[in-house]
Amino acid sequence: MTTNQQAFDRARAAIPGGVNSPVRAFGSVGGTPRFFVEAKGAYITDVEGRSFVDLVNSWGPAILGHAHPSVIKAVQDAAGRGLSFGASTPGETELAELILSRVPAVQKVRLVSTGTEATMTAIRLARGFTDRDLLVKFAGHYHGHSDGLLAEAGSGLATMAMPGSAGVTAATAAQTLVIPYNDRDAITAVFAEFGDRIAAVITEAAAANMGVVTPLPGFNAFLAETAHANGALLIVDEVLTGFRVGAGGWLGLEAGSYTPDIVTFGKVVGGGMPLAALGGRADIMDYLAPLGPVYQAGTLSGNPVAVAAGIATLKAADTSVYARLDAAAETISTATAAAFDAAGVAYSVQYAGNLFSFAFRSGVPENYEQVKAQDAFRYPAFFHAMLDAGVSLPPSVFEAWFVSAALDDEATDRILTALPAAARAAAA
Ligand code: PLP
Repeated sequence: MTTNQQAFDRARAAIPGGVNSPVRAFGSVGGTPRFFVEAKGAYITDVEGRSFVDLVNSWGPAILGHAHPSVIKAVQDAAGRGLSFGASTPGETELAELILSRVPAVQKVRLVSTGTEATMTAIRLARGFTDRDLLVKFAGHYHGHSDGLLAEAGSGLATMAMPGSAGVTAATAAQTLVIPYNDRDAITAVFAEFGDRIAAVITEAAAANMGVVTPLPGFNAFLAETAHANGALLIVDEVLTGFRVGAGGWLGLEAGSYTPDIVTFGKVVGGGMPLAALGGRADIMDYLAPLGPVYQAGTLSGNPVAVAAGIATLKAADTSVYARLDAAAETISTATAAAFDAAGVAYSVQYAGNLFSFAFRSGVPENYEQVKAQDAFRYPAFFHAMLDAGVSLPPSVFEAWFVSAALDDEATDRILTALPAAARAAAA
C-alpha cells in the first residue's frame, strides 16, 4: 500500500511543492496532505484506504455529493460521443439557457474553463466596453490568479500571508485599486479621486475566500449605484456562491435590489469538471469577439463532457437539494459552535446561505483586517483532530466549509461526534 507520505514525497520530486494548487500542500495546518483516490457521496478516500466525511467538496462544485449517479451517467454518455470537438455543440446552448433561466441579470453567457478565466475575461470586457483602465477590488476577495487580481487576495494568498505575487509587474498592479470591504466611505473616496478612469468594481457576491464575510445589508446595491453613477460597471463574482447558496446564487438571495453588469460563475456550474462562465447585459456581452472588439477564446471552452456535467448538476439541484444543504449547514455549524462554547474557545461564525466559516475571535469580522486579527493558531490543532476522527475540513482557517446534499445521518454523526475533542484541541 502507498502511504500519503510516500505519495507526497514522490509528488514533491516531480511537481513544485508536490501540489497543483498551493492550499493542497497543508502549508497553514502542517502535516502530510492526504492523496485521494476516490470520492462517493459524502465521503472521500485516500491512498491508505481511509475514508473521510468531506467538507471541502472540491472547494464547492460537489453540491450533490461526489459522483452523483446522474452526473456520472451524463459524463460517461458525453465521453462516449467524443471528448472535444473544438466546435460548437447544442449542449453549450442548453447550459447557457439554464444559467439565463436562474439568473435574471444574465442575458447572454460565454462558457470558459476556469473561474480565473471568467473573471479575467470579465475585466477585459469591462475595460473594452468602458474604454477605461482601472479596476477596484476589495482586500481579502479572491477572483483567481490572473495578474491584476492577485493584489491583497484571500484564499491561498490569505493562508500564505502573501501581499500579491512575484512576477506581477508594477504597472499591472497599479491598475488595481484595493480598498477595504464593506466600507462605503472607501468606495466614495476611490470614485471621487479616480471616477473617470474606473472601468469596474469587482466583488465576490458574498466574500468567502477569507472565511465567509457577508456584504453588509445594502452594500452590493450601493456598489452598483456608485459604479453606475460614475459610468463604471459592477462585476459580481459568483464563482463560489453561484448555484450553491441557492438556485439563483447570492444574487437570488438579494433578488431585485440591484443589477450587476457582468456576473462570473465557476465550480457548481461545471459539476466538478473544468467549466466556468461569464454572463451579463446583452449589449456588454456582445462586445466579445466575434461580434465585438474584446477578444476571448479557448480550445476547450464549452467542452462537451464538462458541459454535460454542468447541465446534469444544475438539473439535479432542485429545491429539495438546497433545503438539504441549508439543513446540513445549520446542523453542523450549530454543533461546532456548541463545541467551541463548551471548550471555552472564542469564535464568531458567519453564513452566506449554506456557506459558513468560523473565525477565532469574538466579534464578527466585516473586512480582511478584522479577519486577520484572530487566533488563527488554533485552527491546525482543530483541523488535525477532525481529520484524525475521519472528517476532512478545508486545510486553512481562511476558507469556507462546503456541505453537500449527500450528508446523511451517518456522515453527520461522525462530524458531530468528532467536534467536542477537536474544539478542546483548539482551546489548548
Ligand atoms: N472567484 C472566486 C470567488 C473563487 O472562489 C475562485 C476560486 O476559488 C475563483 C474566482 C477562481 O476560480 P478557479 O480556481 O476555477 O480559477
